[in-house]
Amino acid sequence: MTGKERALAAFRGEPHDRVPVIPLVGQAGAVYCGVAIREHAHDPVTLARCQIECARRMGYDGVYISADTWVNAEAVGFPNVEHPEHAPACGHGTWIESIEQIDALPLPDPKRSGRWPLMVEAVRQAVKMAGDELLIVGNFDQAPFDLACQLRELNRFMLDLVENREFAHRLLDYCADAVSQYAIAMAEAGAHVLNTGDSAASGSLIGPRMYAEFAFPYEKKVFQAIRSRFDTPITLHICGDSSTCIDLMTQTGATGIEIDELMDLAVARTVCGDRVTAIGNVGTVDPVMRGTPEQVKAACRECLEVFAGSNRYILATGCAVSPLTPPENLVAMVDAAREGCQAC
Ligand SMILES: [Zn+2]
Repeated sequence: MTGKERALAAFRGEPHDRVPVIPLVGQAGAVYCGVAIREHAHDPVTLARCQIECARRMGYDGVYISADTWVNAEAVGFPNVEHPEHAPACGHGTWIESIEQIDALPLPDPKRSGRWPLMVEAVRQAVKMAGDELLIVGNFDQAPFDLACQLRELNRFMLDLVENREFAHRLLDYCADAVSQYAIAMAEAGAHVLNTGDSAASGSLIGPRMYAEFAFPYEKKVFQAIRSRFDTPITLHICGDSSTCIDLMTQTGATGIEIDELMDLAVARTVCGDRVTAIGNVGTVDPVMRGTPEQVKAACRECLEVFAGSNRYILATGCAVSPLTPPENLVAMVDAAREGCQAC
């Protein structure tokens, strides 16, 4: 089986030859290829080429087409984003102040707004370069809750959830409509899978009641907008400990959920069952960034044991791979999946 076939089988819950491996490689792919992070985030051919070259070199099964976490905020007009040459883009400050400002915001256009056109082109290029060999995941970060936190500023938006709920819902509704445009454009460009992150909706930051009211309905709205036109698998990433919201995450309409390392993978298997594909959750820092290949393989075996006998599991890092990660540790993840585990 090719990486693409193997990973798609895992999203359909169909039998496949071994557990697919897709570490969450973003900017690390630029660094591994000797390309400046800013160039990787602004040139679609470079972005696609770096990601595909890394997957081929290290043997994993699919790639994420992702620049950084400020692509959507920029596309809707957020003004304060810096683009350092050798670090990911970073935004700061607050922008949205009133419901009137939200009502006056036009929906961004995937053909014109910010870096959306170049990211959609990066998906198109990657699909062409990969052929049937690798799975191409179009990352349409950020999901609505995370995007609202960026446009309003995280601390202020957290207060809005308590003090200014109507405002919060209006902003989230706008964010859901904006993000849907981008996700659909990535699907049109041929992405095999679509992925988004709603990291600020983590159980490490908000409780289950807040997740149910402010994150879940808008994630679901985006996924339904995609589903009305495409049957592309969709995955949802939430950083940190999401044990308080994992059950709802599986009810958003997502085909797969990405499990960060703070989560108990056995709980994830129980919740996901045969309905949803679980992706994760080898420690991104320890052991993947700081450990030895042997330590990485041991951690991978523990994950594989938990999902032994399941057709709905992808071995991955819990979160985005650091550019400081030795490439041989990603190769070790692939070796671990090839070797399997005692219970596999
Ligand atoms: Zn994460």
